[in-house]
Amino acid sequence: MSRRPLVAGNWKLHGDKVMVRGLTDAILDALTPEGVTEVAVLPPYPYLGQVQALLADSEVGDRLRLGAQNVSVHGEGAFTGEVSAAMLKEFGCEYVLVGHSERRALFAETDQLVADKFVAAQRFGLQPILCLGETLEQREDAITEAVIGRQLEAVVAQAGVAAFENAVVAYEPVWAIGTGQTASPEQAQAVHAFIRRTIADMDAKIGDCLRILYGGSVKPDNAVELFNQEDIDGGLIGGAALKASDFISICQAL
Ligand code: PEP
Repeated sequence: MSRRPLVAGNWKLHGDKVMVRGLTDAILDALTPEGVTEVAVLPPYPYLGQVQALLADSEVGDRLRLGAQNVSVHGEGAFTGEVSAAMLKEFGCEYVLVGHSERRALFAETDQLVADKFVAAQRFGLQPILCLGETLEQREDAITEAVIGRQLEAVVAQAGVAAFENAVVAYEPVWAIGTGQTASPEQAQAVHAFIRRTIADMDAKIGDCLRILYGGSVKPDNAVELFNQEDIDGGLIGGAALKASDFISICQAL
């Protein structure tokens, strides 16, 4: 089964208009119309409109996908500070992160809330990028699969396995995010295979087609080894997504 590779850059809480323009232009300059890898950027909310306009002005604008880092479970109403999936869609988003470990840990997002966000995103035609990952303590306690399985099952229970036809999963070990410590290709492959098996046990075709990204300190010098693994279909990139040359090298590695 060939799965279209995807590299998504999570800019987190970084940037200003100048940086957004420079980074987006540099990525667009590096994209060729015939490239096979799908590339996405996930800027902070206020810059979505700016990136959308830059893409509209570029001949290869349709080669760079736009996504957001968060979404509300609500469609509209008295929910101060929230941003709905429909609003993201209007600004050209195709993807949205749900369940990033920083949201789970720093903003107390539960498995249930993550599942609700996953469903809310799909209701308006966005593809959720569902992030799953264990802490260092959980890995040392040898409960990685139990943790990942629980996070995944919560979404399957809410959305159904068929929903994974229009979703991406990202395995992001919490201990590897922003730490410079990457999972070894073997460690990552083992968890990716577990995720695929879990979905394939419910629906073989969906499991086979599901794109599973690795995230956690991916850099140009470790990307090739990681992306060579059978069940790693691309990367979710944090720190290295803020430096155009690094991000482009990672996309080329794929
Ligand atoms: C992330 O935040 O999703 C991430 C993978 O960050 P980094 O690449 O910096 O580890």
